[in-house]
Amino acid sequence: MTSNVHEKKSRFVAILLTSLLILIALLFIFAVTLSRKRYRANVKIVKADCIQMLNNEGVGIRERLRAAERDIFALFDQPVMDAATSISNRLFLFESGTFVPYRVPRPAGEGAAATLRIQEAWKLAGEISGLTTNAPPPYRLGWGEYVLSVNNMGRACLLPLNVFRDDDTIDSVTRITIKIPGPEAAIMKQLHYPPVYVWMSVEQMDARVRPVKQAYVLTNIMLVLMFSMITGLGAGIFLIVKRRHEMAQQKSSFVSSVSHELRTPMALIRLYAESLSARDASPDTRERYSRAIMSEIDRLLSLVNNVLDFSRLEKGMMEVGVVSTDISKICNDTLDAFSFRLEHERMSIVRRIEPGVMAMVDPLAITQVIFNIVDNAIKYSPAESVVEVEIQKIGTEVYLRVKDKGIGIDESLKPRIFMPFVRGNDSRVASQRGSGIGLNIVAQLAERMGCAINVSDNRPNGTVFEIRMQGVEISSNQ
Ligand code: ADP
Repeated sequence: MTSNVHEKKSRFVAILLTSLLILIALLFIFAVTLSRKRYRANVKIVKADCIQMLNNEGVGIRERLRAAERDIFALFDQPVMDAATSISNRLFLFESGTFVPYRVPRPAGEGAAATLRIQEAWKLAGEISGLTTNAPPPYRLGWGEYVLSVNNMGRACLLPLNVFRDDDTIDSVTRITIKIPGPEAAIMKQLHYPPVYVWMSVEQMDARVRPVKQAYVLTNIMLVLMFSMITGLGAGIFLIVKRRHEMAQQKSSFVSSVSHELRTPMALIRLYAESLSARDASPDTRERYSRAIMSEIDRLLSLVNNVLDFSRLEKGMMEVGVVSTDISKICNDTLDAFSFRLEHERMSIVRRIEPGVMAMVDPLAITQVIFNIVDNAIKYSPAESVVEVEIQKIGTEVYLRVKDKGIGIDESLKPRIFMPFVRGNDSRVASQRGSGIGLNIVAQLAERMGCAINVSDNRPNGTVFEIRMQGVEISSNQ
C-alpha cells in the first residue's frame, strides 16, 4: 500500500513537472514572439527617424538649390522661374544621390567665351549650393543639349539631352520620357516625379539599426539560455523522480522476492524435518532428507550472505584486501559445495583448473564471486546440462571462466546485468528463485579486488562469465 501511495506521488510529481515544462515552453515562445515584435517596432522607429532626417536634409538642399537657381539664372540674365517650372522642382535620383537637372540656356556667342561662361555657371552651381564639385565639368557639345546636374553628394555633371525624348517642349524637363533603355533610362524615369532625393548609405543605415539588432540578439540569447537552464533543470528533476520511482519499485520487488526466497527453503526444511522424524523412514530416506535439508540451508545461507554483503557494500562497510591466494584451491572448494545440488538437478561441472594458480585476490570475496556465478550458471541451465569452469594463467594474468549452456542473456539486458535488482524478463528467469543482487555483488567485489569482469555469449547457446585477475609469479627457488 505504501508503495502504491509512493507510486501515485511520483506520478503526480512527474505530471506536474511535464506540465511545468510545457508551460515554460509556451512562455518561451510567447516571450520570443514579443521580443521579435518589439524588435520590429524598434527597427521601424529607427528607420522612420532616418527617413525624417533625410527629409529634413532634402528640404534643406531644396532651399539651397532654389537660392542657387536664382543666382544661376541671374548669371544668364534669365528671369527667375515660378515654383512649378523651377529646376529645384525637377530633381531626380542618379546612382549615388540627388541630381538637379538644369537645362543650360544657350549663351550669347560661341567658342571660348561660351565655354568660359559655362565653366563659371558650373563653378557657381557648386559653390552656391554648398556642394563640392571635384569632377571636371563634362561639357563638350552644343548648347541646349545638356542638362546641368548637381547632386547632393557634391558632384555635378552635364547629362546629354539626347538620352531623353522630349515629348512636348524642351522647356519642361518634367515631361521628358525615356528614349533609350539602359541605366540612363532608369534614371530618367524619375523625371516624372521630381522630389529631392537624399541618399544614405547602407552602412550608415545599418550602423543605426545595429544596436537594436544587437539588443534583440542578446535578449534572445538570454531567453534561450534561460529556457535551456529551466528545461535542463526540469529534465534533471524528472530523471531523478523517475529513477527514485524505479528504485522504489525495484526495492519493493526485492523485498518480496527475498521474503519468498526465505520462506520457500524454510517450508522445505520443515517438510524434510517432519519426514525425518517419521518412525518408518528408512536409513536411505533419512540420508536423502538430511542432504536435502543441508542443501536448502546452504541456499538460505547464500541468500542471507548475499543480502548482508549487498547491504555492507552499499554502506561501504565491506573490507576487501587482496593477498596472494591459491585460486585453484578456492575454486575447487567452492565447486564442491554444489555437489548435492548438481546431483539433484542431474547436472555436472567440468573442471579445467590448472593446479596451484596464484592470484592477488581477497579469498572470501573471490569465493563469493565464484559461488554467485556458478550458482547462476546452474540456475539458468536446463537439467542434465554441463557447466564448464576453467582457470588459466596467461602471462601475468589469471583467467577464471564459467561457461554454461543455459538460456543465455539477452543483448538488451547485458549492459544492465551488473546493476542492482535487475532481473531478466524471460519466464525462465521468473521461474527461478532470485533477488537480482548476485551479479551486482560480483561486480562490486571484482572492482574492489582490481579484477575485470566480462560477460559474453557461449555459442551456440548459453553464457560465459570471465574474470581477469592479477596473477602471482612463483619464484623458482620456492
Ligand atoms: P538473480 O537473483 O536474478 O539470479 P543476479 O544478479 O545473479 O540475480 O542475476 C541477474 C540476472 O542476470 C538474472 O535474473 C538473469 O536474468 C541474468 N543471468 C545471470 N546469470 C545468468 C546466466 N548464467 N545465464 C542466463 N542469465 C543469467
